[in-house]
Amino acid sequence: MAEPQNFMRVPDPTPKRTLYTDAMEIFHRAADTIGLAPRVRLELEEPDYEHIFYVTAKLKDRLRPLSPEAVKAFGDLPVTQVRDPNGLERLADGQILLKGKALLGSDVVIRRGHLRLPDGGVYQLIPGESQRFKAYRVQHNQARGPYKGGIRYHREVSLDLFKALAAEMTWKTAIAEVPFGGGKGGIQIDPRQYGREELEAITLRFMYKLKRLIGPNIDIPAPDVGTNGEIMALMMRQYLDGENERHVGRAIVTGKDVRIGGSEGRVKATGQGVVYCIEDYYADKGETLKGKTFTVQGFGNVGSFAAEIMGNLGARLLAVNDYDGTIYNPDGIDIPALLAHVQDPKNLKRSVVGFPGAQKIEKKDFWEVPAEVLIPAALGGEITGEIAEKLKCKLIAEGANGPTTPEADRVLLKRGIDLIPDIIANAGGVTVSYYEWIQNKRMESWTEAEVNAKLEHALKRNYRIIRDISRNNPRKTEMHDSRPFCVGKQVEPRLAAMILALKRIEAHYIIEGFSQ
Ligand code: NAD
Repeated sequence: MAEPQNFMRVPDPTPKRTLYTDAMEIFHRAADTIGLAPRVRLELEEPDYEHIFYVTAKLKDRLRPLSPEAVKAFGDLPVTQVRDPNGLERLADGQILLKGKALLGSDVVIRRGHLRLPDGGVYQLIPGESQRFKAYRVQHNQARGPYKGGIRYHREVSLDLFKALAAEMTWKTAIAEVPFGGGKGGIQIDPRQYGREELEAITLRFMYKLKRLIGPNIDIPAPDVGTNGEIMALMMRQYLDGENERHVGRAIVTGKDVRIGGSEGRVKATGQGVVYCIEDYYADKGETLKGKTFTVQGFGNVGSFAAEIMGNLGARLLAVNDYDGTIYNPDGIDIPALLAHVQDPKNLKRSVVGFPGAQKIEKKDFWEVPAEVLIPAALGGEITGEIAEKLKCKLIAEGANGPTTPEADRVLLKRGIDLIPDIIANAGGVTVSYYEWIQNKRMESWTEAEVNAKLEHALKRNYRIIRDISRNNPRKTEMHDSRPFCVGKQVEPRLAAMILALKRIEAHYIIEGFSQ
């Protein structure tokens, strides 16, 4: 007689820990806490869709600098004069792109594939070849509306990372009360190694492939690490190319330049939102930001605007760490001067390193700078358990997505360091993206003051609900009602934020039911 069949799935004997499983730990804890309906848990545990595709592009010829040692072999190589300096594009990694007519009309002396430029350096000519890049778009959940989430251009991306970031967008859009779901994607590329025209070609090709997967009512990308309004403009152009009614489709991406349908206040919205939350954290204690000290990791879009706005409210910036190094000034860093340094066109890496108004310190020492607030605004996983043990701040406001590991979370809790979790702290970006989307749909244009007033109200209102959940303080005020979300006991802020998100998402499944 045949053995009885067992159709149950055998659990993996050693479930592999990944970035995604780590990121989902808090989801499972919140799901357990509120007794999330099992089928809703299954729906949210994995993304709706995971797209992986490839993008090819033809690169330009480039000049690769030789090491001082290798230059010696070309001691008598004459200088090649460059008639059109605009034809050379210097990249952050030291290479130079040769554009169309760079050397046209010049006396070009090439020896064994090398030439010397007027700067004295000897460069190897690398012919522009075609290159293939791996691209992703993860669409996590759309129970509350179209997928929404950024496009990241970075060397260290993976399906696992985009799954975590897409899920985080599902939680964040629910917390910010915008009618979207979660998505995220991008390209495995270090954009600093490519020229403007190359990035344009890569972006257009990326959108060419992405186009069948997204739409203004299906999935709406936005900028993230390594992308910006210029990239969004290219994506929009490619999506709308040849369409009859182009204006109708402007809402295909958000984070656009205001002159082409972007929203006032969007560029700085994430940094602004981080500061609204920090302001509210102190207002709750009857304090203001005046005289408070802070440090920032990452001085890109989120970190630099957060720092500028904190500075305008009277807080003092003591240290900044970015990809290239760390700067420190115990008397306070002059923020407008630092912004000018980073935005200087000669500062190809857009780094804080080399800023004259501060001293250089090691990254490991950055974490130990005593300051009231730490704003991580770089990448995920930076604050590990070990680092959390050393921190000398009283509050972490997460500008970045997932900067704190689950182990670090436990240490912070033990050490009594307060936390404003990413899914509320950095929700300003997606909130104003929503305002941009509405303005596009309605053909309207709102002032920055209108945008900021709405943003401030939305973030503070939802942050207060999260604080009430955390303290188990159900109440209704003029601004917010936390009664439907409190769970009868106190929980830490990250869990409280996730509870708010899950209750809002679950309502859709419970009230609407499941399509069969
Ligand atoms: P960005 O590319 O403008 O800036 C990133 C910054 O981080 C740069 O200063 C870079 O030097 C620094 N950095 C990169 N790797 C680093 C490392 N290993 N160590 C230290 N610093 C490092 O990116 P952004 O848009 O400001 O995004 C920063 C973070 O905020 C990301 O986690 C992103 O997902 C999150 N975020 C961004 C937005 C947005 O609207 N831009 C919205 C929500 C969340």
